Amino acid sequence: MSENKEKSISKELKEKLFSQRKNGYLRIDAEEEKAVFAFAENYKRFLDIAKTEREAVAEAVRTLESVGFTEYKKGMKLNPGDKIYRNNRGKAIIAAVIGTAPIADGVRLCAAHIDSPRLDLKQNPLYEDTELALFKTHYYGGIKKYQWTTIPLSLHGVVIKADGSTVTVNIGEDESEPVFCVTDLLPHLATEQMTRPATKLIRGEDLNLLIGSMPFREDESSEAVKLNIMNILFDKYGITEDDFISAELEAVPAFKARDIGFDRSLIGGYGHDDRCCAFPALAATVDCVAPVHTAVTVLTDKEETGSDGNTGLRSSYLKYFIEDIAEALGSEGRDVLSASQCLSADVNAAFDPTFADVNERNNCAYVNKGVCITKYTGSRGKSGTSDASAEFAGRIRRLMDSRNVIWQTGELGKVDAGGGGTVAAYIANLNVDTIDMGVPVLSMHAPYEVISKLDLYMAYKAFAAFIAD
Ligand code: MN
Ligand code: MN
Repeated sequence: MSENKEKSISKELKEKLFSQRKNGYLRIDAEEEKAVFAFAENYKRFLDIAKTEREAVAEAVRTLESVGFTEYKKGMKLNPGDKIYRNNRGKAIIAAVIGTAPIADGVRLCAAHIDSPRLDLKQNPLYEDTELALFKTHYYGGIKKYQWTTIPLSLHGVVIKADGSTVTVNIGEDESEPVFCVTDLLPHLATEQMTRPATKLIRGEDLNLLIGSMPFREDESSEAVKLNIMNILFDKYGITEDDFISAELEAVPAFKARDIGFDRSLIGGYGHDDRCCAFPALAATVDCVAPVHTAVTVLTDKEETGSDGNTGLRSSYLKYFIEDIAEALGSEGRDVLSASQCLSADVNAAFDPTFADVNERNNCAYVNKGVCITKYTGSRGKSGTSDASAEFAGRIRRLMDSRNVIWQTGELGKVDAGGGGTVAAYIANLNVDTIDMGVPVLSMHAPYEVISKLDLYMAYKAFAAFIAD
């Protein structure tokens, strides 16, 4: 046998037996590349107008209602093809399209979260120190605190006034509006600061938002700068200092989503985790027509703080919704849940060559290799994991291949490097077959995260395929 012949046999065998996961851009044609880039434009718009869970719900309601979804109340009759949603306190939302199959055959559930790491104002936020006005904050979610200094921040949320009326706040997004920021120490005087471990470089109580410096005119008392700020806030919003007690105000990066790279293949923006899954899941639901199985998409709150609370997925709001539609369609919630399948749609860490050490190269997600399927999460011996069965992983894998979805598999980092969880466990605990699937992210939880347009589009294709199956 000649040397050449041997080579071609091994090449043939490798093609047959080895995993072949090339860069996704080498696996799509020009037409699909166009679709990839077009989808990213819609997504960037969503990122810019939905920076908080409340804004994401408001935008989801607008979108859903514009295509005929109506708010569902317990007891309403349901028929195949009906498009419904339930708004949970303006911070989480469930959308559903009723399928043609009996509801007892289970639903196809996509679950993504719409809260992202940020700086929340404390309930007594406003103070003046040395003639500067500041807001005290309590950070939300897992952040590297030093990343949140010296960047422009906008303020979003609601204030419930003493008379019970609601004021909606959104300031710092329009170019004409002011922004806010957390200051940091100049390097010249940071000799002691720079010796601290990174966790203490900026401490929680250092994350104070600078909001003003002008004293109230003709006022000789102390706290004249604070008084001037409160006066401006009263003029603009009609609020007094005590109204902060019943407010939820969130400081988030004021940057807009932008293309990254000469080739524009990537998107930089705030809150990709988990809007890069929430948006495609919502889009797939909106585009879904007459599915066989009832399609249910939940966009949840509080994932970044552990999913507790009545708008998080450890609460019963999803279960109650399933029970309500089960009853309307003549079945029992527990039977529907037990027959259901779920994609826990959340991001994964993308391999970063600058920080290669934390990953095990055979089992991590890469930019441009498609949506990432993660069979199990958890850390240190799969603690806290939801581990999808081989059977369910096999079903999802076959489905993705049959619909030409470019996908990869990966887990979050090396076994003992750290880890993280998603909402998968809370849905799986309802006896639902659940697997994690999502877009790989660079600089996850930073004020400015990066994803690939191709991976984003493949998430949309994956969710659409799952819903339609
Ligand atoms: Mn997430
Ligand atoms: Mn996260």
